[in-house]
Amino acid sequence: MSASWPRRPRLVAGNWKMNKTATEAIATARALKDAGVPADTAMLVCPPFPALLPVRDVLEGSGILLGAQNLHTEPHGAFTGEVSGAMLTAVGCRMVIVGHSERRHGMGEDDALVARKLRAALRDQLIPIVCVGETLAERESGETEAVLTRQIAAAFGGLVAESARGTVIAYEPVWAIGTGRVASTEQARDAHRVIRAALDQHGEGRLGNEIAILYGGSVNAGNAGALFAEEDVDGALVGGASLDPQGFGAIAAAASGKQARAR
Ligand code: PEP
Repeated sequence: MSASWPRRPRLVAGNWKMNKTATEAIATARALKDAGVPADTAMLVCPPFPALLPVRDVLEGSGILLGAQNLHTEPHGAFTGEVSGAMLTAVGCRMVIVGHSERRHGMGEDDALVARKLRAALRDQLIPIVCVGETLAERESGETEAVLTRQIAAAFGGLVAESARGTVIAYEPVWAIGTGRVASTEQARDAHRVIRAALDQHGEGRLGNEIAILYGGSVNAGNAGALFAEEDVDGALVGGASLDPQGFGAIAAAASGKQARAR
């Protein structure tokens, strides 16, 4: 874990998914840099792999962090088409998304693989953003708490507290991702509390109150403020709305306006 990574930082992270050529990514990064970073809030963008280097160059000196959307578990080797954490660190990435639902459900990544990727990220000096979240069917059958608890246990089980403190979690209900159907503030709050309670089961000390938990799923400039008003919501992982620099900037501004929390 990086010594400069604060406890429960306020973070707004943009997942550009498979969008933007390098040229388009440069233009978006320039607009974000021009707008600046609001006070007391960290901003992160996760472009597709081919845009990482040019975006890094644009963002230099801006304070906006660079991240990647995925990594392989191994540092190098015969893994055609894959990218390692060491390669991401070498191009200036500070963070990496691990276990996004589009990889869990679309690419067959299971809890065990997510756990290995989390450890690979830490090994390669990256701060992992570990995504967890239930499907609509799981929510409707009352399994949300069990699913979140299982996913946290699988990812964090056996991880020493010092390593766990160098991570971020994103609660991303699968039914809210890219659907325009945002979780209610109560649903987000309850899920974040379940995750904090699950984290308390791992490592010595009460990790639940030490790790930032972002909400992700159809966040936009219009709904971000209400979500950030929840004590347990430390920021957002934003997909679609992060593609537009103005909208993403407005979400970061809403996080910056979050009242100082007594912890
Ligand atoms: C995501 O990709 O993590 C995400 C939350 O997407 P969206 O904001 O588009 O729902």
